[in-house]
Amino acid sequence: MTQRKTRTTIGRLSKATGVKITTIRYYESIGLMGTPDRSESGQRLYDDESIQRLSFIRHARDLGFPMEAIRNLMELQAQPDQDCANIDAIARTQLTEVRKRLDQLKALENELKRMISCCEGGRVETCRILSTLNDHDECIADVHERPMSL
Ligand SMILES: [Zn+2]
Repeated sequence: MTQRKTRTTIGRLSKATGVKITTIRYYESIGLMGTPDRSESGQRLYDDESIQRLSFIRHARDLGFPMEAIRNLMELQAQPDQDCANIDAIARTQLTEVRKRLDQLKALENELKRMISCCEGGRVETCRILSTLNDHDECIADVHERPMSL
């Protein structure tokens, strides 16, 4: 058996990238990480390319990219001679998503600020925060859009 490449275990890969072992296994199960080689005892062994791949996924996740976008980005990365317009489009879609979340958060901020400013202190029975929670008609917004986590 030739050992040209450096190989590492899932534990060390996890430590090196800050990605939990269960998450690494999950990425493998959805085909994002490729199938690792196995040692004679059946232990998963990762090469430098796997480390780079997982770091890429981790970084993209930190930036809030959804799994499907990450999959596409990795496929595009494998075609270095192609136009990068598709990559640009994916990043722009993500920016739109982030802005949408910001708008939703801004609306929630305003609603909560108003509820709090309406509360004049006093007794629970006349608390405007509770009366607003009891009656959506007192809200500014017709509907509340709860921002989904990125
Ligand atoms: Zn409401």
